[in-house]
Amino acid sequence: MSNGEREPSEVRCGPAAPARGVQVLDPRDVPLGGPRAMHVRRTLPHRERSFVGAWCFVDHYGPDPITTTGGMDVPPHPHAGLQTVTWLFAGEVEHHDSGGGHVVVRPGEVNLMTAGHGIAHSEVSTAGTATLHGVQLWVVLPEADRDLPRELQHHAAPPVALADGVRARVLVGELGGHRSPVRTRTPLLGAELELEAGAAWTVPVDPAHEHAVLVDAGTVRWHGAALGPGQLGVVDAGPAELRLEADVAARVLLLGGEPYPEQIVMWWNFIGRDHDEVVALREAWQAGSARFGDVVGYPGRLSRLPAPTMPGGTLRPRARRPGH
Ligand code: MN
Repeated sequence: MSNGEREPSEVRCGPAAPARGVQVLDPRDVPLGGPRAMHVRRTLPHRERSFVGAWCFVDHYGPDPITTTGGMDVPPHPHAGLQTVTWLFAGEVEHHDSGGGHVVVRPGEVNLMTAGHGIAHSEVSTAGTATLHGVQLWVVLPEADRDLPRELQHHAAPPVALADGVRARVLVGELGGHRSPVRTRTPLLGAELELEAGAAWTVPVDPAHEHAVLVDAGTVRWHGAALGPGQLGVVDAGPAELRLEADVAARVLLLGGEPYPEQIVMWWNFIGRDHDEVVALREAWQAGSARFGDVVGYPGRLSRLPAPTMPGGTLRPRARRPGH
């Protein structure tokens, strides 16, 4: 998807001092533009945190009936310096990209798109879709990998039983001995978990990694903190085990990874290392540069999504946490 904010602000992201316990991040509501705008609940980037591992963008949306939102129709738009991870709980979205990638994204199937040096893609919900419900996640590419060629990886993640009343699908990384074949450039974990009412599970985790739970449905206790729908609960590196409990049936996403050490600047659909680089990426897209390539197969009328205007004046870096 495209970050559809009309006036996206530039966000400078960097590491922060670790906190004790669970950092609970509330989502903010972001309309994605258009007359019948889809709304998303965004928990990363957050004014109090930029990353969980290399995960740097978490948009959660739906369930939205298509009759209300008009569905998803995102014309060709660019990305650079990142990978996108698309995961649906309901509905179907047809994807075309400038690397020749064409896939119908379905629930239970992960699509990881490497933007690297530059890619363009379009996303349109299919005619048979009545409800859209899912997440759009971004992973920052580290300095050494940020100019990778464009690529699309697709994987139908089988459901696996992890414990009594706990089922998972592993999008990326490894959980409970189940490893996804999807390749990432930094150590990363992403998994959907379905918990039955009364389920309690101790999750063995890499103590060098930070972890978060995004609640899609139900309520859970995560490392002792109560989380409701839309909230992201983050635990910094340190513990070797985390506890996940559900009093009612719940569905969550578990995200984790090695703390990301680099400073980045995110604006619109780009990740750069400084303001000038983001300006150059925007100008390249506006000029129709081959850097992003051409999308073939988008059925809509608009051939490409123009970039928004960049905010004026001197951009103030946004602190990852107040006081840091
Ligand atoms: Mn996109």
